[in-house]
Parts: sequence; C-alpha cells; structure tokens
Amino acid sequence: MLTVKKIISYMEELAPPGYALQGDPVGLQLGNPEAEINKIIISLDPDREALKAAANYNAEMIITHHPLFFDKLSGVDESLPSGAMVAEAIRNRINIYSAHTNFDIVPGGVTYQLGKSLNLPVEKSSVIEITGREKLLKLVVFVPAGHEDNILEALSEAGAGQIGNYSHCSFQTPGTGTFMPGNDTKPFIGLSGRLERVKEIRLETILLFSDRTAVINALLDAHPYEEVAYDLYPLDLEGPEVGLGLLIELNDPITLDELNKRCHDKLPYCIPRFKVFGKEVFNKVALCGGSGGSMIETAARKGAEVFVSGDFKYHDLKHAEGLGLALIDAGHLSTEMPGVQFLDRYLQGRLKDDGFTAEVIVLSSRQAIWKII
Ligand SMILES: [Zn+2]
Repeated sequence: MLTVKKIISYMEELAPPGYALQGDPVGLQLGNPEAEINKIIISLDPDREALKAAANYNAEMIITHHPLFFDKLSGVDESLPSGAMVAEAIRNRINIYSAHTNFDIVPGGVTYQLGKSLNLPVEKSSVIEITGREKLLKLVVFVPAGHEDNILEALSEAGAGQIGNYSHCSFQTPGTGTFMPGNDTKPFIGLSGRLERVKEIRLETILLFSDRTAVINALLDAHPYEEVAYDLYPLDLEGPEVGLGLLIELNDPITLDELNKRCHDKLPYCIPRFKVFGKEVFNKVALCGGSGGSMIETAARKGAEVFVSGDFKYHDLKHAEGLGLALIDAGHLSTEMPGVQFLDRYLQGRLKDDGFTAEVIVLSSRQAIWKII
C-alpha cells in the first residue's frame, strides 16, 4: 500500500529538508503520514485550483513547491481565502506536502532544472548565494573478484568516485566473503544450504549525498549478486557549495535575443521582459528560479553579465543599472515550472521502480499570470 509516509521518503531523498533555509516550513503541511494514496496532484502552489483538481481527480495528496503555511498560522477563518482553503483540505482529507527552499538549494533543484530547460550548460555552474556545503558519503561494497571494473564503471557513471578533476577514484582490497544461500534463492555463486567462501574485493569510493539514490541504483543494477552487501558512511568532510541561484559559464556566448527566445519558447507561459545594462552578448549567465531580486549584487560581483529570474522590481532595475548587469524577468511561475515538471517525472519514476501504480497529475496553472494588453 502506498502511503503518504512513503511519498515523503521519496521527496526527502530528492530534496532533504536539511537543505531548507531556516524558518522555511517545508515538509508535510497537512495530513496523515499513514493515509493511503492512489492519486497525487503536483502543483507550484497549494491553492484553490490545486484543491479543485484534487476533488476532480479524487486525488488524496497535493505536492507543492510553495508551502501552505508560509506565514505563521494564527487561525482558520473560513471567511478568508487562506482559512477556507485549509478547512476544505481538512474536510476532504487532502494531504499537502511542500518542498520549497530545500528543492531550490539541493543540487539538481529548481534553478538547475530552469537551466536545463533553457539548454544552458548547467553542469558547468557555480552557486550564487552560498547557504552551506554538500555532505559526502563513503560507499563500501563487496564484489566477487573479476567484477570490480564493471562495478566501478557503473558507480563512476552515476557520479561516485569523483575527487577534484579525477574520476573513478576507489580503493580495492582483496579478501574472502562468506554466505550461505537460503531456501528460494537464486545465488550467482554457490548452492542453497551450503556455506560458500568466495574471493571478493572490498571496493570503497566517495560520493555526494545528493547522488546517493542514483549511485545505489547503479550499484544494484551492475552487481551480479542477488543480495548486495554494501555500507554507506557519513563523512566529516566538506563537499561542494550549495545555495540559491546558479552562475553558468558558456563555451559559446549567447545573445540577448537568443536568451529571450529560449525563455519564451521553453518556459511555460513565459513572456520575458528585459532591460540591458552593459552588453547584449553574454558569456556568464546568472539564473534563479522564482524571485532573484535579492541576488542581483552577488550575481554581478561574481561576474554575471545577465540575470534571468522573476519578480524584478523598479529598485532591482536601478540596482542592476548601477552594476552594469542585464536583467531578464521571465516570471516567477515560468522560471519555477521546470522544477515542478521535474518533480512529476521524478515521482512517476520512483513509483514505477517500486511497482506502485498510483497516478501523478501535474497541474499547469496560469491563473496568477499578468494579462498583457
Ligand atoms: Zn517561488
């Protein structure tokens, strides 16, 4: 049975709550961790439209980027829109879960997905506003001798074994593994009920916390044993910086026209607005899904020539003018929708891998978009 608790575990694998900014109320906003789930709505906002969709599709859960209780709750007054929504969700037994700044900050999160949608080389990016450092893990796995190269290749392809500019980093020690296959097993080596002694390699390597699901899945796929013996150790070492916004260095410069066109063509509902201070051809592009106004100065100081985000205000324009930074306002919703669409693909994949048939429906809202006249 698929429960809210199980879905939370998938979401926390993707965007651990520990990445969230202090005071950001991420996690289960409303509901019962033990409740059974058959249909899930994914929406940028926990709003009336999401509740309506949940009712239409008989969905028991809504997953959002923006939290339901962003402001401290002081009451549930049904004569106010926020109170009416909370009351309706409780009455209809809707479970609401939000991954907000943790999903902004985690590597591969909202801004990374924005960069991918714009066909920018996000792999070659650095964080604009640093909020912490990623954790590192050590993986130790026991491999039958002769299979260590295959396993190392699979682990490396999934992101493990990277130290600076060196890939495939591992340490390998030979030894003897023992096991006795039980009833109903299909052992790669040995027979049921007989103690086996096998020459094995203890293969150890390093990986980023955010890569652990991909690395372990790659290990389980590549390892020949039915039951794979492995350990994951937390390390007291600092990994790469994590935070808000990405600064991307381009191999080939991009023009303002091309960047505007990509925003328009690739981002849902996007009608980009722009203001150029400085050049119109860029080698360094800053991105931030949502509202990036507070990052204008840091982005410019780090060498950005253009900043694509949403919600820029008049004073942001004045600030950028002084710094010689071009701005493209591609809209809050439009710059965050690639992250929401990624959540949909991620969750569908995890459910399918684990054999769950629950339906996931992504809500494409355009209710809160300005009308251009
Ligand atoms: Zn947002």
